[in-house]
Amino acid sequence: MRHIIVIGAGQAGASCVAKLRNLGFDGRLTLIGAEPEPPYQRPPLSKSYLMGDMARERLYLRPASFYAEHAIDLRLGQTVEAIDTAAQRVTIGGEALDYDDLVLATGSVPHRLPPSIGGDLEGVYVVRTLADVDAQAPRFAEGARVLIVGGGYIGLEAASVASKMGLRVTLVETADRILQRVASPETSDFFRSLHRAHGVDLREGVGLARLTGEGKVTGAVLADGTTLDVDFVIVGVGVAPATQLAVGAGIDIDNGIAVDAQGRTSVPHVWAAGDCTSFPYRGGRIRLESVPNAIDQAEVVAENLLGAEKDYVATPWFWSDQYDVKLQIAGLNAGYDRVVTRAGATGTSFWYYRGTELLAVDAANDPRGYMIGKRLIESGKSPAPDMVADPQADLKALLKQ
Ligand code: FAD
Repeated sequence: MRHIIVIGAGQAGASCVAKLRNLGFDGRLTLIGAEPEPPYQRPPLSKSYLMGDMARERLYLRPASFYAEHAIDLRLGQTVEAIDTAAQRVTIGGEALDYDDLVLATGSVPHRLPPSIGGDLEGVYVVRTLADVDAQAPRFAEGARVLIVGGGYIGLEAASVASKMGLRVTLVETADRILQRVASPETSDFFRSLHRAHGVDLREGVGLARLTGEGKVTGAVLADGTTLDVDFVIVGVGVAPATQLAVGAGIDIDNGIAVDAQGRTSVPHVWAAGDCTSFPYRGGRIRLESVPNAIDQAEVVAENLLGAEKDYVATPWFWSDQYDVKLQIAGLNAGYDRVVTRAGATGTSFWYYRGTELLAVDAANDPRGYMIGKRLIESGKSPAPDMVADPQADLKALLKQ
């Protein structure tokens, strides 16, 4: 009987096995996850779950019974240590498992602060897993002083939750502005104002020099010499694709596990999907860290495992929740040279152009602007920037042309 093994019981791994069964695959199917939890969604970890507004059970992607009902051998709390691609075998502990096809869905690993600057002190957290969040949840007490290192989406979402819960929040960002890696100055301005209006002490262009404390963190020294007293620290300084296993197996890496448009790695019978991969996109190669990408790419891999020969065509979209603002992002803004601001009926959107080509839209509390922008980008249509800037202009009409 054909045996497919999927390594990584996260969003991509869970989507892949579910799709395989949905498509009628009736061979042996094994899903292996290092975490003790059945597959769950990560976005609420820095949003409603951190806030205490979402029950743990609602995080899980499927009911616990789903896996047994679909004859999926779900192995939790088990880390695959090695892959022998010649023998088509993976090793877990002392056990060896043979596969006919293997899918790597190993996700990302958060960057941590080095121990030399206090990164290993008690009270220093990252936000990646349910265990990370459960460990820091008791610290979210009114009046507690939290330092957030990094002004990307995870750091800003954590700042929003902490501020709403009455903590005293300081956020430091080494770059000149928050969200510098991912968004325009206009979007950064919008969120800077939002956080400051909620009392966050947001400092840009200043890095962390070191954390201080005896065993547990009690203070921080910033690069400009400022000292802060802190009760705990959240580090949100990005992630790296989890490629260690693939590297050990001699699989090609290029900013992630390099896959072709159909999800094949450089080694026969080994596929990959989700955060851990880089894949062809518009003549180049990209890596995305998002739920829609993990689901869509994993489902295409499942189809291709069954012979579909289908290319994955990414239609990037993302979201972030901060205070009462829902940010929705369509497209990829890499290479933009102009940003146009549009006032919508309920919010504001920022439209990214390269020359006359519309690349991406950031829509803050503007679901209509987001939907129209997303559909325009996906259909390759670029409204004139002047038209976008005019709040009276009917952009929806362009979709019918
Ligand atoms: P993961 O979900 O990381 O799963 C990979 C799994 O593989 C992990 O459980 C890992 O333990 C396991 N694994 C790794 N190596 C091994 C091994 N050797 N053996 C066994 N198991 C292994 N995306 C959005 O689109 N919108 C959001 O608002 C958003 N918010 C986020 C908030 C937070 C706090 C975080 C952390 C992420 C957020 N993301 C968001 C990103 C999104 O969650 C990820 O892009 C998505 O989870 C990627 O899915 P994945 O399956 O590729 O990786």
